[in-house]
Amino acid sequence: MSTPYLSMDLAKIEANARRVVADFAAHGIAVAGVTKVTCGHPAVAQAMLRGGVSMIGDSRLRNLHRLREGGVTAPLMLLRVPALSAAAEVVACADVSLNSELAVLEALSAAALAQGRVHEVIVMVDLGDLREGVMPTELVPLVTALKALAGVRMVGLGTNLACFGGVVPSRENMGQLVALSDEAARAYGQPLRWVSGLNSSGLALLEAGHLPPAMNQARIGEAILLGRETIIRRPWPGTAQDAFLLHAEVLELKRKPSVPIGTLGEDAFGERPRFAERGERLRALLNVGREDVEHAGLTPLDERLSIVGASSGYLVMDVSAAAGDIRVGDVLPFALTYGALLRAMTSEYVEKRLLPLSAGDGVDTRGAP
Ligand SMILES: *Cc1c(COP(=O)(O)O)cnc(C)c1O
Repeated sequence: MSTPYLSMDLAKIEANARRVVADFAAHGIAVAGVTKVTCGHPAVAQAMLRGGVSMIGDSRLRNLHRLREGGVTAPLMLLRVPALSAAAEVVACADVSLNSELAVLEALSAAALAQGRVHEVIVMVDLGDLREGVMPTELVPLVTALKALAGVRMVGLGTNLACFGGVVPSRENMGQLVALSDEAARAYGQPLRWVSGLNSSGLALLEAGHLPPAMNQARIGEAILLGRETIIRRPWPGTAQDAFLLHAEVLELKRKPSVPIGTLGEDAFGERPRFAERGERLRALLNVGREDVEHAGLTPLDERLSIVGASSGYLVMDVSAAAGDIRVGDVLPFALTYGALLRAMTSEYVEKRLLPLSAGDGVDTRGAP
């Protein structure tokens, strides 16, 4: 096994999915499992599906292809609003997509007619996070135009919060979503199957029992994969936070001063790091760096260790408190934030290792997507 590697514990992902699905199900809400941070890893999707998610969502067409080719037969939802230029591919590989532009809906309609399919769409409304979606005042005109398009069927109204602007889902904005979905259904002339208002930031609201009963779909990534809600990143009860761990190897172990020697200019990244005088420390160099991961999002499982910094290929650690227990060649595990996991998953330098290992299938040699 080469280092560094990222372990992905499928049993923990499945158990996390089962817990989160049960929590949402108690409020009548179905969960779409979101795999984008794993680049649409089919084994991760299958673990989520065993845990009870009803469909898989991902933001990239390439990942949806990977899921299908990897044997995932559940419905696939494209989460990132489609590119106009990709309409035909969207219809061919996604069962449902999130949308906000009439020109794109027209192209999806033409592509669906050409392919003899009906493509389902969820219209996205922007309730203040200011990422994707039509503003509420533009919703009815869009839905009215959509009604005239053959080949596409509106199946829901959605919103996405806490992603760009950090807007917290609330009783108010979720109530607004439900009211808008009633308006949209009237304009469309048909009931809508989904009110799709939540991601992992919605767990606190769910727990407080403050969701309108009409809310019936959540699109969940982080809470299943890393076991956290995403408003304050609180561990979610009954889930594991260590389904993914990064493992890196100690290359060098030496006592060194805590402050660099000589005149200090910029570092390799144009930054001017500061160093506190702490005397001589035992430092470890590990074989993972900024080309592999976002080091600020790593937490060593051994609480005695701390990260001093990173260059493109090295992680520099202060391991003084664990002197005697650490040797060159040791492989140290780290928990990851969502951002760090994203970088590790997309780095071709980080091997992906599935757990539990069954003969021969543990190593995923596929490079970065
Ligand atoms: C990524 C994404 C999600 C999942 O968000 P989590 O915070 O990981 O649960 C849901 N909806 C959309 C549109 C997304 O892009």
